[in-house]
Amino acid sequence: MIQYLFLDLDNTILDFSKAESIAIRKTMAAYGLEPTDALAVRYSEINDRHWKALERGELTKPQVVTGRFTAFFGEQGIDVNPEDVAYTYETFLSQGHWFLPGAEETVKRELFGKYRLFLASNGTPRVQRGRMTSADLYPYFEQSFVSEEIGYNKPSKEYFEVAFSRIPGFRKEACIMVGDSLTSDILGGKNAGLRTVWVNPGHKIAPEHLKPDYEIETLADLPKLLEEIG
Ligand SMILES: [Mg+2]
Repeated sequence: MIQYLFLDLDNTILDFSKAESIAIRKTMAAYGLEPTDALAVRYSEINDRHWKALERGELTKPQVVTGRFTAFFGEQGIDVNPEDVAYTYETFLSQGHWFLPGAEETVKRELFGKYRLFLASNGTPRVQRGRMTSADLYPYFEQSFVSEEIGYNKPSKEYFEVAFSRIPGFRKEACIMVGDSLTSDILGGKNAGLRTVWVNPGHKIAPEHLKPDYEIETLADLPKLLEEIG
């Protein structure tokens, strides 16, 4: 019987791609670049590359946060103080929120009250707090485990072990990890001995070593799946 849900935030509950695109465009404008679609796509590629390196343990979180801006603005021939850019970007990012279709109703009306909800996010605390508050999500989560506050990132086993230790009476067998990222959510869940649900709107194919236990198209499909699992 599933009792505990570990839910990822970005691109699982909230539309991070949209938030990121808006925030990076505002940041470009703030540093004198015209915010074109092509530049937004380029930033996204550089950003993803940095987060993947973090997941592989090749970069630290502070290196990701600033390094992506050094790389991006450097390519455009603009010399910036990456700490300043990161702060500006995160300020824009922390403002406002966009739910993925059906996600708000699913969390607030279907999952809440039936399961114990825990947020499991690799984001930056200041950004995640702003967005969680803006989206009025805090009342629905028993605790939020933001990696920087935990001291480890998903998919490390340590991230999950610290989180588990903060839930009195926690039982792994009664918990499931739900998220859109194979390399942080699904691998992390596996590393920690949890069952996993992959939110996979693009119907991508998971490589064998990252196969989740279950797949759904959007979070709105989760309540039905959990009833089937029992
Ligand atoms: Mg995510």
